Amino acid sequence: MNETIEKTKCLIIGSGPAGYTAAIYAARADLKPMMYQGLQPGGQLTTTTEVENFPGYPDGTQGPEMMEDMKKQAERFETDVRWGMITEVDLSKRPFIAKADDGKTIEAETLIIATGATAKWLGLDSESEYNGYGVSACATCDGFFYKGKDVAIVGGGDTAAEEATYLAKLCNKVYMIHRRDELRASKAMQKKVFDTPNIEMVWNHVPTEVVGESEGFSKKVTGVKVKDVKSGEEKTLAVDGFFVAIGHKPNTEVFADQLKMDEQGYIVTDSDSTKTSVEGVFAAGDVQDHVFRQAVTAAGSGCMAAIEAERWLSS
Ligand code: NDP
Repeated sequence: MNETIEKTKCLIIGSGPAGYTAAIYAARADLKPMMYQGLQPGGQLTTTTEVENFPGYPDGTQGPEMMEDMKKQAERFETDVRWGMITEVDLSKRPFIAKADDGKTIEAETLIIATGATAKWLGLDSESEYNGYGVSACATCDGFFYKGKDVAIVGGGDTAAEEATYLAKLCNKVYMIHRRDELRASKAMQKKVFDTPNIEMVWNHVPTEVVGESEGFSKKVTGVKVKDVKSGEEKTLAVDGFFVAIGHKPNTEVFADQLKMDEQGYIVTDSDSTKTSVEGVFAAGDVQDHVFRQAVTAAGSGCMAAIEAERWLSS
């Protein structure tokens, strides 16, 4: 069987805010970009409900709807948006070669990686049952919905510490559940947590179940069961929201050993740039940002990647 090789000036992998913004800019610069959407078309925002912090939506919008709008905007400028995954790349020579799970082989003059990161979850059935209905992996996105209420967060790293202090400003009380008796977070972040009176540490405990009520399509969290790792004793914390902050995993396996990455697998880019260690390959959004991780910052870096790809092609 003859293999068809398709060519593009710009291949974008991933379809979150970074990918679609890169597509809009690349398409308007006449690069005729091709996009492979990846495992979760629309990215992490498709797993949230209300989005109230993306500028331009005074009344907020729904995450899946916003991503559908970004897709339409990218397609309006003739981005070739495809369903499917890129399963293999060869960045050792140009044009770069990418193989997709639809059997296609693509030769790309530039590559924009916007494959994002995946929040790690505890893996409890009840956690997925209430995901989006009181369970969240993003306090900055969803904390606002728990104004004046009691919430719990699990994790002991910088993300959990930062999110706990963020939640403490909005909520009545924040339980910070950690499986050990000391935090992994930096000393400065630890101090912030310990100096915040409405954060209560729940040391040496792990969540075992998210408790809630469901009636038809409406569901809500009412508490979280936690177990003392030493004594095995269980208790229930009465909360309206449960935040999981046990780390993220960048989606970079397919680029392993071909691009410079940090020890956690995030792609390293030049400062104030989306340039990676391979010329002509750019990375945007959560795949290269473990600090801000916001839709709007991802969109901003997607824009940078498209401009840098266009400039690199014409240099
Ligand atoms: P980390 O991997 O640093 O921390 C994850 C935390 O979750 C750890 O405390 C870990 O416990 C706990 N954990 C992991 N798995 C489980 C589980 N199954 N059950 C219960 N608890 C679990 O992730 P972060 O997202 O916090 O940080 C990632 C990186 O980003 C770090 O390098 C961090 O410094 C950086 N960062 C920097 C920020 C900044 O500079 N402003 C802000 C946010 C992150 P244990 O400690 O026992 O392993």
